[in-house]
Amino acid sequence: MNDQLKYLIQFQALENKRKAFHAELEDIPKRKAKLEKEFNEFESQYLMKRTELDHLRKLYRDLEKQVAMLEERLRRARQKESEVKTNKEYRALLAEQEEIKREIAEKEDQMLECMEKTEHLQKEVRVLEGQVAEKREKLQKELSELDIYREEIGRKLLQLDKIQEELKNKLDEQLKRKCEFLMVKKGGVAVAPVEKGVCRVCHVSLPPQKFIELQKDESLMHCPHCQRFIYWPQHERYASAEKEILTFISTS
Ligand SMILES: [Zn+2]
Repeated sequence: MNDQLKYLIQFQALENKRKAFHAELEDIPKRKAKLEKEFNEFESQYLMKRTELDHLRKLYRDLEKQVAMLEERLRRARQKESEVKTNKEYRALLAEQEEIKREIAEKEDQMLECMEKTEHLQKEVRVLEGQVAEKREKLQKELSELDIYREEIGRKLLQLDKIQEELKNKLDEQLKRKCEFLMVKKGGVAVAPVEKGVCRVCHVSLPPQKFIELQKDESLMHCPHCQRFIYWPQHERYASAEKEILTFISTS
């Protein structure tokens, strides 16, 4: 056999690689979205805590205002002391003052509790803030790495086109047409390896005599079932055919 079958094998290897590259390209937006989703989920935890903190601060300010109002009421109640005429009125005034003092104490307890919670949450928010910043930086780095990777695949695809075109030109005209025909008709696979007597693409066994013939590598053969070009990958001529051509892409 001349090198024609080898070229066909290599042409197919490039076609498979092209599919793999396209699959990776399609996968990149999904990978990006996943990274962004993970970050957003983390960030939303932080934002929730921050909202909670704002809430606590507002609550504290409200309590502060309420205490100021109660103190004002207490001051006025004390002013009234000089105006009371009866013991009954005096006792009622004192009871009112006690009630206001009790309310103030209650509000102050709430303020204290609020302050403690705020301090605790503030620490938590500060830690989360640092983590969010770190994660944001990591996200940006990973996203730009994926952009670089996408460009790299784009470049490799251009190389692949060029090499594949060169290979195509080495094929005999008739073979080239047949190969193109099979590519279109057979889902992008025109060449199939046969191992242990079985076509690895359509999974149908070759008649034993055909397989022996294939191993001898004397003529270009087709799978009797799927009609694709077939070869025996253990043959020394073809063993490294794929690797040879693919190395050319990854190193250039
Ligand atoms: Zn087949």
